[in-house]
Amino acid sequence: MIKWVYLWLVFLSFSCASYLEELKWPKGETFLTFLEKNQLPLKIYYTLDKEEQELAAEIIAGVKYQVLKSEDHQLEQVLIPIGEELQMHLKKVNNEFVMEITPIVVQEEKRSLAIEIQNSPYLDIISATNNYGLANEFAQSFKGGVNLRNLQKGDKLVLLFQQKRRLGKPFGSTKIDVSMLETAKKQHYIFYYKENYYNQKGEELDSFLLTKPVNYTRISSVFTQKRWHPVLKKYRAHLGIDYAAPTGTPVRSAGNGKVIFVGTKGGYGKTIEVAHDSSYKTLYAHLNGFAKGVRGGQGIKQGQVIGYVGNTGMSTGPHLHFGLYRSNVAINPASVVKMAKSALGGKELKEFMRYSEDLKQQVQVALQNNELPLKEENFDAFYPLEKIQS
Ligand SMILES: [Zn+2]
Repeated sequence: MIKWVYLWLVFLSFSCASYLEELKWPKGETFLTFLEKNQLPLKIYYTLDKEEQELAAEIIAGVKYQVLKSEDHQLEQVLIPIGEELQMHLKKVNNEFVMEITPIVVQEEKRSLAIEIQNSPYLDIISATNNYGLANEFAQSFKGGVNLRNLQKGDKLVLLFQQKRRLGKPFGSTKIDVSMLETAKKQHYIFYYKENYYNQKGEELDSFLLTKPVNYTRISSVFTQKRWHPVLKKYRAHLGIDYAAPTGTPVRSAGNGKVIFVGTKGGYGKTIEVAHDSSYKTLYAHLNGFAKGVRGGQGIKQGQVIGYVGNTGMSTGPHLHFGLYRSNVAINPASVVKMAKSALGGKELKEFMRYSEDLKQQVQVALQNNELPLKEENFDAFYPLEKIQS
């Protein structure tokens, strides 16, 4: 019921007999083919500017989108999420369809979970919450920490995490502020701090190390999340880094992984996507061409040439658009592209210590109260990369 209230708030105008459909974005569908299929004017796509066409290429197969239809089954409005912050909103204005990029309205919840290990942390988290995103995030955070194989039945696990909700349902990725495992009477902590995982000494854990994908002349555009452009009066975002480089410059895979997409991807032009460990994915767009023999499903080494810089798709000059995703959510590559792990020091370490002490106290409270979050009934906001894109 709550969901409907939210929806009516989101869709600005509707007639009483309108009805709502929630659909899954099909594999292989682009924004352009979607317009074609629904007999909507294609100029909606062709009048988008460069940044908007890139955003339109960010629609993920399997994502749930909402369609509002009139009594006689005519399409009235559509809401398609792009990442976790923005959505494409198609609606009729003066009998003509227009597209507007608007912020996604979410509610953020802080939750805690305290359980005893029965099978494995992964399975126990799922049976307590039905939240696969949470279980995956936990597995990722503890990879460089305690050896999970030595756990005993009855060991304790506490997670303090943040979950977003859209239209009343869990939405997007889950952030675990702190995980605590108590085994052999010792408590082991992992903290999420400034986009990386740290142990209680402030040492970075098993972070994902990527190398620069191209020898560039300059960075022509940085990563930006949702922002309001006061002159254009539009919401914008740039979900990657643009590296300017001459056409034909080799593009190298930023890490070891598996090629999951080779082809043309809307405004991104010729594009390659590579899946890496721990649900990371990299994207290389506007390529001039692909390296010989590169195909979907192929294993790839860090530094291996996969393509060449170009100007395909919506692009104003030769450059590489480099995107980085964690569980299909775009994150800033600048925080991850580096060669070595680091440890916090000085003022930063002091700040981290204060932050982590506070979380440790909250963990003890959750442990004492055996806190359990409510079990999700319909949790399908997490899509394993391999399943939908191979
Ligand atoms: Zn770009």
